Amino acid sequence: MLNIVLFGPPGAGKGTQSERLIEKYGLIHLSTGDMFRMHISNDTELGKQVKQILADGMLVPDSITIDMLEEEVSQHPNAKGFIFDGFPRTVAQAEALDAYLAGKGQQIDMVLQLDVPEETIKERIELRRQSSGRADDDAEKLLKRIDEYFSKTIHVLPYYKDQQKVTTINGVGEIDAISDLLYASIDPHVA
Ligand code: AMP
Repeated sequence: MLNIVLFGPPGAGKGTQSERLIEKYGLIHLSTGDMFRMHISNDTELGKQVKQILADGMLVPDSITIDMLEEEVSQHPNAKGFIFDGFPRTVAQAEALDAYLAGKGQQIDMVLQLDVPEETIKERIELRRQSSGRADDDAEKLLKRIDEYFSKTIHVLPYYKDQQKVTTINGVGEIDAISDLLYASIDPHVA
């Protein structure tokens, strides 16, 4: 079992790198942002509940997010491991995830932090906004999402640093080079 939290601000490249990691290590990719967007496009009850929250760039309440994530994990009883992308975003979520995994005799093995300066994030999201049309990627919402990251989500790092699980990776540069740095951190855990 190999459970990885991929951590970093919006636009840090978590989605792109996750795709590579799931392929290389045979892990399941769990992105709470993707799950919410799926619920919204399928117009489910949950989707209706969170649609405006996502459009505003705010965080969805912990209880909703944690329940959805745990339900998704439970769908994969035979997984070799998971990449958690965009979760946990609050200390409460991190604690809930630890408790949930402990109940299954598992744990988070490593937290890979993609370190990208705020200015670079803004440039990247502007490029993505132009190509993807994601409703939450307009400039005002972007500032809100970055603000949510630096005011709430960043506090998750000390939680995992206390557990000595954080590896910081420079998230600026060629995508392939960043992947290589991630592989170099992960490989000793799968040897
Ligand atoms: P992302 O694709 O990870 O950038 O997430 C898109 C949006 O989904 C965020 O701006 C939040 O509104 C919501 N979201 C995703 N993950 C979480 C989470 N762990 N906690 C609260 N809200 C979340």
